[in-house]
Amino acid sequence: MDYEHFFRDQLDGLRAEGRYRVFADLERKAGAFPRATRHHDSQVQDVTVWCSNDYLGMGQNPKVLEAMHEALAKCGAGAGGTRNISGTNHYHVLLEQELADLHQKEAALIFTSGYVSNWAALSTLTSRLPNCVVLSDAANHASMIEGIRHGGAECRIFAHNDVADLDRKLSAIEPGRPKLIAFESVYSMDGDIAPIKELCDVADAHGAMTYLDEVHAVGLYGPRGGGIAEREGLMDRITVIEGTLAKAFGVMGGYVAGSAAMCDFIRSFASGFIFTTALPPAIAAGARVSIQHLKQSEFERARHQNRVARVRKELTALGIPCLENESHIIPVMVGDPVKCKMISDWLLDNYGIYIQPINYPTVPRGTERLRITPSPFHTDDDIAKLSTALSELWSRCALSRSSVAA
Ligand SMILES: *Cc1c(COP(=O)(O)O)cnc(C)c1O
Repeated sequence: MDYEHFFRDQLDGLRAEGRYRVFADLERKAGAFPRATRHHDSQVQDVTVWCSNDYLGMGQNPKVLEAMHEALAKCGAGAGGTRNISGTNHYHVLLEQELADLHQKEAALIFTSGYVSNWAALSTLTSRLPNCVVLSDAANHASMIEGIRHGGAECRIFAHNDVADLDRKLSAIEPGRPKLIAFESVYSMDGDIAPIKELCDVADAHGAMTYLDEVHAVGLYGPRGGGIAEREGLMDRITVIEGTLAKAFGVMGGYVAGSAAMCDFIRSFASGFIFTTALPPAIAAGARVSIQHLKQSEFERARHQNRVARVRKELTALGIPCLENESHIIPVMVGDPVKCKMISDWLLDNYGIYIQPINYPTVPRGTERLRITPSPFHTDDDIAKLSTALSELWSRCALSRSSVAA
């Protein structure tokens, strides 16, 4: 077989569909969030980033950086091993205590990323619970899907955020079988929020475990940044809360929080936890300070919501169609992969505005979009420039405007 030909052919297929991924080559500027320098054709350009998942700019928070510098100076670069073989650093232990406290659980367990935490925890739980059935929300993230698939247990997919469908599917399963319901709080592409209480009620009625991915909510919602479940007073009803240290907390790593026995079980049986080097101590130190800061500071959350509301209001006034939701994610719907990429390229090249196009398979075909994530540090002027630029490009692409502006 001509292997090279095969690879090139597959890539040509992506290009023909307009969904070949091109990475923006950026240098983020510490202290100047959301500014970055873009490297392109041997030139540099100043850009404003409008699609970062460092939602609150905590990746540049001075206290976080100071904690990381201090841990780096004290402990060096790497952890030096897996958690089991010489890699458990005191900073990991402190971080796990911080996370257990954040979610008011007995214990927490950290992983090298949120993806790995979902993959490892879900595959371990569902493969080892005897005769387990998984109920998985239709819109779950790839990391949950891969974890469930790898676990090999029977999986039934319920309609997205559909409590009645979940109830129906659970009713069809023999009582007594272990059941795990896997879902998210804030869905990252549509920005909609799960009916957590109702899902928990159904779970309780059927004796099912609940597994909640709060990746796009931790740090951002709840009085201490514990997520949507904290905001709604439901943390104690969730069996496993999973989160990331890489989005609102601005650093890197993932975790699960739950009972001491459940965390110890995953610690003891999960391949994706056991056989990989622990996070660098400096990363754990930075993440811990970021969590601590957001536990007691409302400033970032309040300013974040204020900026989100302002962007929404300006885009809506111009008739730029934004998907309605209750969260901080603003999906601007384009509905065509080629136009979506074209608008994104124009924004970057001509306006210094960086918004990555979101195409299939991240979102369904025909729902291609620009996913805008305002931060506490985007100014009124940034927002005005964004709205003007999008409005100009909307006209140039002859895209339809929502009726609000008509
Ligand atoms: C980003 C994401 C993850 C993975 O988290 P990382 O820390 O980036 O690996 C898991 N779940 C959801 C819903 C995500 O969007």
